[in-house]
Amino acid sequence: MSAAAEPVPTSALKILQTYCVVDADLRILWVGRQWDEFALENGGSKAVANAVLSKPLDQYIAGEAVRQAIRAMIRAVVTHHHELSIDYRFDSPDVMRRFRLTVQPMQGDRVLMVHDLRDAQTFATPHLLQHHDETAAVAKCAFCCAMRAPGGSWTPVETWPSPHPDTVRPTICPTCEERIEGALDAARVGRKPGKPIVGGFGP
Ligand SMILES: [Zn+2]
Repeated sequence: MSAAAEPVPTSALKILQTYCVVDADLRILWVGRQWDEFALENGGSKAVANAVLSKPLDQYIAGEAVRQAIRAMIRAVVTHHHELSIDYRFDSPDVMRRFRLTVQPMQGDRVLMVHDLRDAQTFATPHLLQHHDETAAVAKCAFCCAMRAPGGSWTPVETWPSPHPDTVRPTICPTCEERIEGALDAARVGRKPGKPIVGGFGP
């Protein structure tokens, strides 16, 4: 069974924190020195640097839509040699965290992926540690943390009625799909990335 198919902690993008260099085949060539610290802190002992080098990045991203979005970003940067950036939210059970992902072109069809923590706030009440399951009823956006129950609408974490589901299906909400398209378009034509998103970002 591949790692992506197993239920993993809800940090869909956990393995992408800090720095990594990826080639056009999405193989991880190098990771920054904070990588192990972050992987271990987030329960990813299988994801420490020695274990991930030369592995496909795909293997560490949960959710097909999320994998496709990351692949599209890397491809756009390799093809057009323009930087791309997008803000996303990636919480731990007790801290809301906002990050910016910047994908920078390097020589030889490689890209540098940089994740900057921009904001962190402790929740008044910690949430459950959520696990990923591609068959879970509740969908969760890997970019803004909003959730959607079957037949419901996308709801920010803050207004989701308690209790939170302990298992979620990682995907991308329509609002974030639009933001990703905007970032891809900007990279294609070499436009400056859009305005940074401040405050809550979600549907
Ligand atoms: Zn979203």
